[in-house]
Amino acid sequence: MKNHTFVAEPQLSYRGGDRVAVLLPLPLAGAYDYRVADGMELAAGDFVEVPLAARTLTGVVWGPGSGAIAEAKLRPVRMRLAAPPLPAVSRRFVDWVAAYTVSAPGAVLRMTMPVPDALRPSAPALGYVLGHVRGESPSVPALKVTPARARVLALLEDGMPRPAGEIARAAAVSAAVVRGLITAGALIKCALPAPEPPPAPDWRCLGLALSAGQRAAAARLQSAVGAGFSVTLLDGAPGSGKTEVYFEAIARALAQPARDSVTDAQVLVLLPEIALGAQWLMRFAARFGAMPLVWHSEIGTAERKRTYRAVAEGRAGVVVGARSALFLPFPNLALIVVDEEHEASFKQEDGVTYHGRDMAVVRARLGEIPVVLVSATPSLETVENVRSGRYGAVALPSRHAVAPPAIELIDLRRDPPPKDGFLAPTVRHRIATTLQAGSQALLFLNRRGYAPLTLCSACGHRLCCPHCTAWLVQHRLSGRLQCHHCGHAQAIPPACPACGRAGSLVACGPGVERLADEVAALFPAARTVLATSDTLTGPGAAAALVTAIEAHAVDIIIGTQIIAKGYHFPLLTLVGVVDGDLGLAGGDLRAAERTFQLLSQVAGRAGRAERSGQVLLQTHTPEHPVMRALQASDRERFLAAEATARRETGMPPFGRLAAVIVSGADEAAVEAACRCLAQAAPSAADVRVLGPAPAPLALLRGRHRRRFLVHAGVKVSVARLVREWLAAIPIPASVRVQVDIDPISFL
Ligand code: ADP
Ligand code: ZN
Repeated sequence: MKNHTFVAEPQLSYRGGDRVAVLLPLPLAGAYDYRVADGMELAAGDFVEVPLAARTLTGVVWGPGSGAIAEAKLRPVRMRLAAPPLPAVSRRFVDWVAAYTVSAPGAVLRMTMPVPDALRPSAPALGYVLGHVRGESPSVPALKVTPARARVLALLEDGMPRPAGEIARAAAVSAAVVRGLITAGALIKCALPAPEPPPAPDWRCLGLALSAGQRAAAARLQSAVGAGFSVTLLDGAPGSGKTEVYFEAIARALAQPARDSVTDAQVLVLLPEIALGAQWLMRFAARFGAMPLVWHSEIGTAERKRTYRAVAEGRAGVVVGARSALFLPFPNLALIVVDEEHEASFKQEDGVTYHGRDMAVVRARLGEIPVVLVSATPSLETVENVRSGRYGAVALPSRHAVAPPAIELIDLRRDPPPKDGFLAPTVRHRIATTLQAGSQALLFLNRRGYAPLTLCSACGHRLCCPHCTAWLVQHRLSGRLQCHHCGHAQAIPPACPACGRAGSLVACGPGVERLADEVAALFPAARTVLATSDTLTGPGAAAALVTAIEAHAVDIIIGTQIIAKGYHFPLLTLVGVVDGDLGLAGGDLRAAERTFQLLSQVAGRAGRAERSGQVLLQTHTPEHPVMRALQASDRERFLAAEATARRETGMPPFGRLAAVIVSGADEAAVEAACRCLAQAAPSAADVRVLGPAPAPLALLRGRHRRRFLVHAGVKVSVARLVREWLAAIPIPASVRVQVDIDPISFL
């Protein structure tokens, strides 16, 4: 087998007096020239400290200098950091992503160096040992040995250095006691031994015995490893064993012979909503005998630093992370897996606006490695790429030994819930029989809080966010009204703020908290749990919930999409979708697709083990193509209908879109900028520029927002078009222009 390819570093080096371009992690137009200091030797990718105005910044040597700065003004590079250089493939990735997303290269570079601290050697951790043998030291003659102090001294008698905090804990004394002993000279500082690196995942561990279909799929994925760039869709119903199958590809990648004797092959798995990946991590550990490294926004600084360093030094075998993990400086990445590739949460909406799945494909191409896209409900983009032959596909036969659950549409027009309720009589009845059978039920409603709207029954006034074009969501658990866009929160007022009538405010529509009240009234004996991002806060909350559900400490789960994904609960046999129409409202391009994906996924929670499941989908529009396709479990028909509609309108993936959002606190300045942009808008045969129009969220966090939408033919490079358009227009500093290539959100 061929060793997997990697991108060779150019052998260019720069010596004292040479001019080099250094890219700084700032939104500047490009790299700046610096002079290599005398006696210094630099190569592309080196992290260096350079002066910028009065500051000293860390940047990366990007290549030879451009000559843009006069020799006399050239400032010297201060020093080279003793960190592994940014690999050539990472540097090309930065340039590529910047060009594609119409971002400053430095803004993308910043994503590859998110832990500046990790670029410096860490000071050795310090601990304490006994400063003298008790009673023998003339230098500490008068140490008063209290019982607490005695415990510390006894603890340290073994000579093992320990951090101060650990000493206090182990000896059951306060930090002050330890400090007192340090001051008295009874304890002295020493370096702690470096911690043992955690065990690495071991590809030699054996996985589950795969079915014939799973084996065939695994073999296909494995054959792509080490064979250059490829994209393969791993397609299979929830529970068909996709995770087990791509684990085999990971094992193969890890078994690759090392590029050199120092580093091993690295694997990156991107998962949405990583914080909830407890079940995934346990399965990984069961398969490979060790935990992977984890990367997402919630991990602490120390762990970020360790992980970044391990990746950069080529030590991290497997990293599982959110989309930002894609920008880690892997020197030897051999495989990328994007699980739940259709997930909208792979799209980053602020700062550099990029799609994690699409950029994973780019990263794989630049690194000449395979990428596996995994989904039970692949995006239309991916399906189209498979159809045209650009991507390969491997399908897993239906569910591992269990029939897929039947989906029943509950027509709310014929089977309406009683007044003030949201569950249809049929659904109420089925919950009762499910509980009687000793099984669990999941009620899915993708709305946090108690009610999405609060209005005055006297004057009709609706309570809105003062900073956004949005209703305030009523949260009764916290007793507050919240804006889900900007985080604004206020107490629920006792009287209508418009007409002053007391006690006139009423909650409209259902949220999960309100549904929980209904369920509690209907099934007072059932153990019910709310699973939303409001209730699952803090580390371990999600894992604890998963354990409670697995242990049958819960009968009814009421949850948002947070619980819809990836979990496997053997006793869960009934899934009720409370508002199947919710995602179809709003009318954006992918509303039907997203609804289909989300509801298929929720449906997949039912009856995944021995007990067969049922899914009840409450809807006002049972005739809608999405509902019909769901009922018939006919994904192909749905995709075909969706593809036809998009092709006819030239919408993605059969056309290109780019959004340009102009925003600012001063509405007049925003409008003036929009007028200039509109006048210079590109025009070509297969390019249309729509707008400027007020964005649906015309006011967001106090900023006025206008949108342009560029709609172009599939061959048009919209990034270049937008870049050239914007470059020609001076925009005042008070106005922000944000570019979103291939937008997912149209708010
Ligand atoms: P998917 O990723 O397609 O949803 P999973 O890989 O999570 O499917 O598999 C669903 C469940 O079935 C898991 O609990 C998994 O351990 C189990 N499973 C899958 N394949 C096998 C197999 N060959 N033997 C035993 N259990 C399996
Ligand atoms: Zn708001």
